[in-house]
Amino acid sequence: MVDSTESESRRLLGRLREAMAGDAPGQARLDKITHLIADSMGTEVCSVYLFRDDETLELCATEGLNVESVHQTRMRIGEGLVGRVAKYGKVVNTPDAPNAKGFRYMPETGEERYSSFLGIPIQRLGEMMGVLVVQSKEAREFSSDAVYALEVVAMVIAEMTELGAFVGEGAALSPLHQQPVLLHATAAQEGAAEGHVWLHEPRVVVTNPIAEDPHRELQRLTEAVEELRVGVDKMLKISENGDKDQLQVLETYRMFANSKGWMRRMEEDISRGLSAEAAVEKEQSQARARMSQVQDAYLRERLSDLDDLSNRLLRILTGQGAETGAELPENPILIARNIGPAELLEYGRSLRGIVLEEGSVGSHAAIVARALAIPLVVNAKRITTEALNGDHIMVDGDQGIVHLRPDETVVSAFRDKIAMQADAQERYASIREKPAITRDNARINLLMNAGLMADLPSLEGSGAEGVGLFRTELQFLVRNQMPKRSELVTLYQRVLDASHGKRVVFRTLDIGSDKVLPYMKPTDEPNPALGWRAIRVGLDKPGIMRMQLQALMRAANGRPLSIMFPFVAQFEEYRAARLEVDKTLERERILGHPLPERLEVGAMLETPSLAFAPHKFFDEVDFLSIGGNDLKQFFFAADRENERVRKRYDTLNVSFLTFIEQIVERCVRSGTPLSFCGEDAGRPIEAVCLAATGIRTLSMRPASIGPVKSLLMRVDLSEVRKLILDCRHRGDQSVRPAIMRYLREI
Ligand code: PEP
Ligand code: MG
Repeated sequence: MVDSTESESRRLLGRLREAMAGDAPGQARLDKITHLIADSMGTEVCSVYLFRDDETLELCATEGLNVESVHQTRMRIGEGLVGRVAKYGKVVNTPDAPNAKGFRYMPETGEERYSSFLGIPIQRLGEMMGVLVVQSKEAREFSSDAVYALEVVAMVIAEMTELGAFVGEGAALSPLHQQPVLLHATAAQEGAAEGHVWLHEPRVVVTNPIAEDPHRELQRLTEAVEELRVGVDKMLKISENGDKDQLQVLETYRMFANSKGWMRRMEEDISRGLSAEAAVEKEQSQARARMSQVQDAYLRERLSDLDDLSNRLLRILTGQGAETGAELPENPILIARNIGPAELLEYGRSLRGIVLEEGSVGSHAAIVARALAIPLVVNAKRITTEALNGDHIMVDGDQGIVHLRPDETVVSAFRDKIAMQADAQERYASIREKPAITRDNARINLLMNAGLMADLPSLEGSGAEGVGLFRTELQFLVRNQMPKRSELVTLYQRVLDASHGKRVVFRTLDIGSDKVLPYMKPTDEPNPALGWRAIRVGLDKPGIMRMQLQALMRAANGRPLSIMFPFVAQFEEYRAARLEVDKTLERERILGHPLPERLEVGAMLETPSLAFAPHKFFDEVDFLSIGGNDLKQFFFAADRENERVRKRYDTLNVSFLTFIEQIVERCVRSGTPLSFCGEDAGRPIEAVCLAATGIRTLSMRPASIGPVKSLLMRVDLSEVRKLILDCRHRGDQSVRPAIMRYLREI
């Protein structure tokens, strides 16, 4: 066994490049590669395993193992030593493979004869593509130099795989970026969309991973890094007096751009035979692999800064992606790993759909997508590596499904779905001006939720009778710095103007938990959903609350005003907040500003505790609105952000409906107006059941008003109520099966 030195590494890469240069079929190339590596490393075995699908690795070429097992031997990710390398993205280096943890005996390959095993992940920009393995009879651990040499080779194989070098007749792989791909992800905003891929960050393709002349590559790297440094310094200069956070990010960039460790690793990669861009990408890949393992949010952020910087460097080196003014394709569907709310707002309504590789249902981007009514799918694994600009794509925001480069049958089925939705929208338009009255004459008020200026046109278009929840924090979240009072006055004024006298309920700043202001120092809390959030922040930092109350009163400018405090858990909190309102009112009076014609101050019931507040609270509060999203998460102790438990408990659970009914009864007794403004208000079946418990006002996203109204008009609430009581009597867990049967029959 010969451990590789730098010059041997370079020689091996040189031979690999020659093997690639001819127009041999893909399989022949892979065979040649394994032969060359085994020869150069002095091992009996070299094998390449590549992913067949998300879960399965396949032996695609080997020198030394039984050739019959090529394309026959497969293993699931995590299975055997090879599967372990793929699962954890980490090197496995052992002198005694048969006794190593996780070893799986595969008789068809004849591999039990080999003692040492070195497995290296083949990965590109954090995407696992396969595993490169060398084995030998002699029992010894491979040196760190040998590991490094093989990492460089694995990087080249990853690039070659990406470039399609191993496809062709009898080949190991089908061509990349040409096949239809179906991705099951998470639905975050409903609706179906068809269009063409627009990558938020265009992919940089490295076509020359191996270079002949390391001196030249070093020079190219040094020049590019210099250009990068100058660029960062320039940006720093421009932002010197600007936003503190942006400045901080740029400082981090500068730190990386001047980092000796980063430079040294890339220089070493180059001296092993990689081109400058391949060296940058190798470091970037490893940073991304680390990123997926790091839990600490701060460190993840820094790794993501490094990722961003590597992208800039790659663009300088390849000249790709630097073109400005590239035009969005027709019906653009935005693809990104993640995107901030402000960037998303910049795209605005020009987008037909959005697919995010990461993201979450409750993220700020999701909130903006909802406000813009653009179908959104999150958690779409591999989408940024699979999709190419301009690819045909279909997004199903109801099911959380993405069809990339769909075939004909999928296209026609999907278009039928879009057509059906369009028909339904037409039907809803025809009842837009009608009130929602059930068959047994119950009148339900349907209001809309809003938070951005972009929402307001929906007040006309949806038939909403007002805004039941205006989430004021969105305006704070989409900015890079705290808005000024005068800006808020203008904004709230525009909201009130656009509502033409319809009631708008402004919810005061609801931050904390999942809603972290980009410019506020993050607090490290063990359990943010139960932590310092919403009214708790407001009362502890009354300055912001006072500014907001003042802005609301000035915007009302003599008109009626409705204010609502979020996340009130006990009477005292409401009292303290109300005191702030009264004080602000008094101050405005002294300053000579016109006071609101009528002022109502409500509270959101989002914690079970408030349902048990003293009678006096129900008497004093002007109105209550159930924040079902939060109330449900606390009722069932199931985190609304946690995909694992989020859907575990049904809103139609009999106990939950019984609890809602008790709140309704308390409000009826005290004459307190009550509404429900969580997401469930906008789900037709849930809305019907909520109405059957006695809720008479529902506030939802505008697009839900049509479907909810349409179903409400078809049902008899006394019948639904009877169904709920029967379920309770029988001890059923959920009302859902019974209500579904009922709806099928009416
Ligand atoms: C809720 O909790 O139901 C609610 C409407 O508030 P948010 O979703 O903004 O927390
Ligand atoms: Mg809430």
